[in-house]
Amino acid sequence: MFFGDLFKPFRKSSEDEPKKEETSHWVKCKKCNSLMYYKEVENLLQVCPKCKYHMRIGARERIKYLADEGSFVEKDADLVPIDPLKFSDKMPYRKRVADNFKKTGTKSSVISGECTINGIGVQLVVFDFKFMGGSLGSVEGEKIVRAVNRAIEKHQGLIIVSASGGARMQESTFSLLQMSKTSAALKRLSNEGLPFISVLTDPTMGGVSASFAMLGDVILAEPGALIGFAGQRVIKQTIGTDLPEGFQTSEFLLEHGFLDMIVKRSRMKETLSDLLQYFDATHGMVDRRKQPGRRQDDYVVEEGA
Ligand SMILES: [Zn+2]
Repeated sequence: MFFGDLFKPFRKSSEDEPKKEETSHWVKCKKCNSLMYYKEVENLLQVCPKCKYHMRIGARERIKYLADEGSFVEKDADLVPIDPLKFSDKMPYRKRVADNFKKTGTKSSVISGECTINGIGVQLVVFDFKFMGGSLGSVEGEKIVRAVNRAIEKHQGLIIVSASGGARMQESTFSLLQMSKTSAALKRLSNEGLPFISVLTDPTMGGVSASFAMLGDVILAEPGALIGFAGQRVIKQTIGTDLPEGFQTSEFLLEHGFLDMIVKRSRMKETLSDLLQYFDATHGMVDRRKQPGRRQDDYVVEEGA
């Protein structure tokens, strides 16, 4: 061992520290440009304290904010796309998937599994925009269908949190097919009288908004999220006029009847558990005898109501 090696661990940490301080301890709001200490933003679930901008968050973080602590059990984590088209754009599709796996630690843009939300068992599917723009490919579609199957089997509700640019172009028709595949599965869920709650976050676009994301029994959105089908530039060019102010935002969509509710991130968990309790009370979704400690008298349903 060289003499200098003895100091390596010390030197390394002292070199790394200030860099870490610079890059990760301050967060800049994309909307109002305020600079904030990361802890403050973290405590507010990644919402800007000044302008209430809801920052984009990863799927793991989202699950942490929604599921009861330690209750989430991931399913189908090993499903990977098989690339039947041998697609290559700037780089081969397989390499792109591998790179995104390195970046995010997941093998697809969806993390799915089951958890409890304030004690109520539910199937939860969450999109991660960081993985190839949250695009919908065959693996993502399959994970959604499997979550539906588990919901039916366990007699539970389903929640999908979308954050997606749309269908994955690298899978062409295979990804477009996921729109009908997921829609058909949700019809089976509906036939069983089980609820599907769709949560739209920034952004929910293209083939995702044109299929399952808009098929929720209840459709919620975070404030200020971009939600639409085609991009604004394309629409503007096609119709040849200016678009109204606030076009394709949650607020605009609520006003025009596309959404049921806009829910702040800090209220999302409570809202979801209230909705699940409501469906439980009116449709007997969950056997309430197995849910001790629940507010059983909160939802009294009159005969024939
Ligand atoms: Zn802000």
